[in-house]
Amino acid sequence: MGVKTQADVIVVGAGPGGSAVAYYLAREGFDVIALEKSRFPREKVCGDGLTPRAVKELQLLDLPTPRDEGWIPNWGLRMVGGGHRLEFPWHEQESYPDYGLSLTRANFDHRLAEHARSAGADVREGWFVTGSVRDELTGRVTGVTAKATDEKGRKVGDEVTYSAPIVIAADGVSARIALGLGMERMDNRPMGVAVRTYFETPRHDEEWMEGHLTIWDGEPGKSNLLPGYGWIFPLGDGTANIGLGTLSPNGAPSGLDHRGLFDGWVRNSLGDWGVDPDSPVSKVQGAAIPMAFNRQPHYVPGLMLVGDSGGMVSPFNGEGIAYAMHSARRAAEALVNWREAPTDGAREAALEAYAGQMKDDLGGYYSLGRVFAELIAHPAVMKICTKYGLPRPFVMHFTHKLLADVYEPTGGDWADRLMSTLTKVAPAA
Ligand SMILES: Cc1cc2nc3c(=O)[nH]c(=O)nc-3n(C[C@H](O)[C@H](O)[C@H](O)COP(=O)(O)OP(=O)(O)OC[C@H]3O[C@@H](n4cnc5c(N)ncnc54)[C@H](O)[C@@H]3O)c2cc1C
Repeated sequence: MGVKTQADVIVVGAGPGGSAVAYYLAREGFDVIALEKSRFPREKVCGDGLTPRAVKELQLLDLPTPRDEGWIPNWGLRMVGGGHRLEFPWHEQESYPDYGLSLTRANFDHRLAEHARSAGADVREGWFVTGSVRDELTGRVTGVTAKATDEKGRKVGDEVTYSAPIVIAADGVSARIALGLGMERMDNRPMGVAVRTYFETPRHDEEWMEGHLTIWDGEPGKSNLLPGYGWIFPLGDGTANIGLGTLSPNGAPSGLDHRGLFDGWVRNSLGDWGVDPDSPVSKVQGAAIPMAFNRQPHYVPGLMLVGDSGGMVSPFNGEGIAYAMHSARRAAEALVNWREAPTDGAREAALEAYAGQMKDDLGGYYSLGRVFAELIAHPAVMKICTKYGLPRPFVMHFTHKLLADVYEPTGGDWADRLMSTLTKVAPAA
């Protein structure tokens, strides 16, 4: 008997988006195959930081996060910049837990893939998806083609066709499946570029995330402030994930030397973390970060985009794991409605509703994020924000909620209500 190549749903990629949707679907009784080109555990260039929004998604996924398995809690965000050093705890809220977490992506992605398997998903490692398959007459996506990969990631053997009524592209920023269908990224959306590595630090088990808001494009204090930030996310294993990212409001290449900026920042600003700038634990690696729904639509007949493939990272803080899992949850809900719908038309409407739901959930917030990205691209605005905004508690109370996207959608305090009004009036696009 050959390898099974038919399922109810084929998922491309088993990062947070792919494994989460595979888990939800398997739990609902769907026959789901997820094809992942790499083999776990594998490194993924990321900050490894999870806000309460991401923790909430992990809770919805029923994934345990015990500290003795490496999940390090954080109780808030320390912001450093403009001569200030201020701590903003995550607040006790109805809709979100009051803590974030950190775990290396090598472990995180492995655990989530195993979790999907435990629910019955068929997660296949070492399968590189080469493209989508479409119905010749209707153009509907009906499957994918894939090749097995060897231990070194080289494609081997013949191309295999996998078929399913629905394919979910959760293949990350490379978005191979969407691109193969001509779905280019939109050039009016922000894109981030970030680099990171790991350093040993005596403060490795500190339970705070730290963000540095003053990244200079030359000599500190005498050059321009860049739109971006540096981070230190302790991992509790002797190391911290340390990185730096910048934002381009329209996705155009900034021409910045991120490795050079990173090196300068680590040397000049991280003395109190006790890191040796010349001895990172691993190579400095970087990647692009697709933001504010920069690839749409999120549904075309037979294909749903989840996570980075649909450009779902927040332009406010570069967080993408929570949104990948959020979109996975919404995609699974749409598929349950699809399965239960009585007619072909109703079934298609249930799938299309996924794209509308994502816009309802996040479109307004991401529209605000696009304005935010435009504003902070001006060095003068960054300067005013860090100099005059940081020391003002009421401004920062709101800013903290805005950047981390952890506000109460109904009720809450004045900052929650302001956030919720702004996201409702901002047009979702
Ligand atoms: C430097 C950096 C720091 C970041 N820091 C944070 C952070 O601290 N917190 C946060 O929330 N977000 C962070 N992000 C963003 C975050 O990494 C992404 O938003 C998140 O990984 C998106 O998840 P995903 O499942 O959509 O895609 P991915 O995590 O990219 O997963 C895609 C998966 O698909 C697989 N794949 C790709 N192509 C194929 C193919 N052709 N066939 C088979 N499999 C394929 C890949 O191997 C991968 O496993 C950071 C990003 C960068 C670059």
